[in-house]
Amino acid sequence: MRSSSALAPVMEVFASIQGEGAYVGEPQTFLRLAGCPLRCRWCDTPSSWRVKPDARVRVAGRELGGRDVAANDAPTNFATPLVAACWIKEAEAGGVARTVSVTGGEPLLWPEFLLGLRPLLGARRMHLETAGAHPRTLARVLELCDHVSLDLKPDLDLDAPEELDAPEELDAPEELDAQQSLGGEVLERAPRTRDEWRAAREACLELVRDRDACGKIVVNGERSAADFVGLFDEVERVNPALLVVLQPVTPLGGAIAPSRELLECLIDLAYERELTVRVLPQVHRALRVP
Ligand code: SF4
Repeated sequence: MRSSSALAPVMEVFASIQGEGAYVGEPQTFLRLAGCPLRCRWCDTPSSWRVKPDARVRVAGRELGGRDVAANDAPTNFATPLVAACWIKEAEAGGVARTVSVTGGEPLLWPEFLLGLRPLLGARRMHLETAGAHPRTLARVLELCDHVSLDLKPDLDLDAPEELDAPEELDAPEELDAQQSLGGEVLERAPRTRDEWRAAREACLELVRDRDACGKIVVNGERSAADFVGLFDEVERVNPALLVVLQPVTPLGGAIAPSRELLECLIDLAYERELTVRVLPQVHRALRVP
């Protein structure tokens, strides 16, 4: 019997160059999953927030649509791990297999899919890009991940989350005390308060201790250095060996690039705590690749 929770809504699969984080510049294949309950002020993919039952999938620039994209009676664009693995191979276009970066949206909404996908990737590395809001789910898939990129977000950059509704074809969502149900699978709900966010971040930082991981902090010019002190304190306290990547926000959609002074202050905050820090813009934007 089909397990609906092993499906995930795929938005796009494409080969490109990693533009962010510890593996910047590495040619990778990107698997973008839809669905995110978080509402980051500077989100550069708000189109990934909602799971749309009639959504199309873009694979290596080719747009697919209709129920034929999924393996059986799944809602459109919901794919099994096997279908997604075939799309990854298609995106590689006969070239050498690349590291697969699973991004979103929030990929941790679809742990059963990730668990099913990993063995189908062969020797490819699997990297996970996550907001770090779902530590219990991260713990479930962590062993499968060759690298984890955690987005570390200052409180002021976070609006209240909106949990996902499951498409009609999946089981109806059921609001539980501290969890949500999607497709019959009980999932963690997103943090709602600053304290919950802090607890989730610290749990994720702890989980990736001594692993191949980085913490990425998007820096917007409207913020002051003081807004980031709490994040640096958390990294120092929980995972001081973590590579911290400061990413000046790309000035699009009203976002304001940070000043050099702000970046220098943040570097000082990192160095005062003996953290390893790098400053990197979104390189894929400079290269004009997806
Ligand atoms: S977690 Fe990622 S996809 Fe979700 S709102 Fe934040 S930046 Fe956007």
